[in-house]
Amino acid sequence: MSFLRVVQGYEGADIPGAAQAVTEADVRRALEKPVLGPDEYLTLLSPAAAGLLEAMAQRANALSVQHFGRTIQLFTPLYLSNHCTNQCVYCGFNARNDIARTMLDEEGILREGEAIAASGLKQLLLLTGDAPRRASAEYIGQAARTLRDFFPSLGVEVFAMREEEYAHLLRCGVDSLTLFQETYNRSLYAALHPAGPKRDYTFRLDAPERGCRAGMRLVNVGALLGLDDWRRDAFFTGMHARYLQKKYPQTDVAVSLPRMRPHAGAFQPASLVGDRELVQILLALRIFLPRCGITISTREPAVLRDHLIPLGVTRMSAGVSTAVGGHAGETESVGQFEISDPRSVEEVCDAIRRRGYQPVFKDWEPLDGVCAVAV
Ligand code: SF4
Repeated sequence: MSFLRVVQGYEGADIPGAAQAVTEADVRRALEKPVLGPDEYLTLLSPAAAGLLEAMAQRANALSVQHFGRTIQLFTPLYLSNHCTNQCVYCGFNARNDIARTMLDEEGILREGEAIAASGLKQLLLLTGDAPRRASAEYIGQAARTLRDFFPSLGVEVFAMREEEYAHLLRCGVDSLTLFQETYNRSLYAALHPAGPKRDYTFRLDAPERGCRAGMRLVNVGALLGLDDWRRDAFFTGMHARYLQKKYPQTDVAVSLPRMRPHAGAFQPASLVGDRELVQILLALRIFLPRCGITISTREPAVLRDHLIPLGVTRMSAGVSTAVGGHAGETESVGQFEISDPRSVEEVCDAIRRRGYQPVFKDWEPLDGVCAVAV
C-alpha cells in the first residue's frame, strides 16, 4: 500500500467544508486529547480553531520542548544546477522561462562548499532543477562525494528518483531527502505541471517512501502553501508525515511549510496564506505529530521566523542564496525565488539565542560502513 491509498480514501470528501463545520467546543475537546487522530487534526486547522491560537501555542510549545529541547537545527541550500525540463507554472526555473541556465562543475562545487563551510554550517541541502540527463543521480552523487569532508550531513532536494538512485546517493554520503508534493490535489497538480516528467503525480507522491526504503535517515515532505485551499494541503501534508512515521519508524520524518514567493514568472497563487494561518498550521501539526521535525525556510521574513521559534520549529535555513554559485559570489544566475530573510548565519544564531534557544550545527556523525558507505 502507498500513501496514494490514503489520499484516495478521501476522494469526494469536502475537507474545507468539514473544517467550516467545526465548533469552538470541538477544538477545546481536541486539545484535551493526549493523542490526536486525523479528525482532530482537521479540527485544529478549522476556522473555529483560529480563535484559540493561544491555547494551541501553549500545548505546541510544551510538546516541542519535551521532544526537541530548546534547539534549532541550521542548514543552508546549495544550488548545483538550474537546468529544468519541467514547466511548473509557479517556479522561476520553469523550462519556458528565459533565464541564464548554468550548472556547477567540480571546482565550482568545491568553491561553494568552502564558502559555506567558512560560515560554520555543517548541514547542507543540495538542490537542482529537474533535468536528470544533465544533473543526474551520478552528478549529484559526485557532488556529495566532493562536499562530504566539509559537511557531515548532506541532504538532497532534487527530482523524484527511483529507489536504487536514492541508494546510490546514500553510498555517496547523502543522508536526507526533501521532496515536496507541491499540492496533493490531483487535478490541480495536473494543471500546475503542464509538461515534463514531474507531471507524474503518483511517482512523485511515492518518492519519499522510496527514500525511506532506501535507508534515508531523514525524509522531509511538504506542500507549497497557496497553490490549493491551504487547509486541504496542510491536512494531507500532516497525513503524509504520519503515514511515513508509522510505516518507517527507523526514519526521522519532517515537514516544511513553504509559502508561495515572488519568482521569475507571472503565476499568482490561488489562495494566499497569511501569517496567522501559517502559525495555525504549525501549531496544529506540532500537536498532531509531536515528534515530527518542522522546517521554516528563509521564504519567511526574519521577524516572523523569530516568533515561530518557540512554537514548534526544529530546523531553519540561514545564510541562503537560491542562485547557482550564489555563495561564492560568482554568479549572474537568477534565483529560484526571492528570499525574505537575508541574515547571515551568525545573525540567525544570535536571534535564536535571544529567544533562549540553542542553534545546532550538527547532531549526528556519519559512520562509514553503517549509514553512509565509504566510497
Ligand atoms: S519546481 Fe523544480 S521541477 Fe518545477 S520548474 Fe522549478 S526547478 Fe523545475
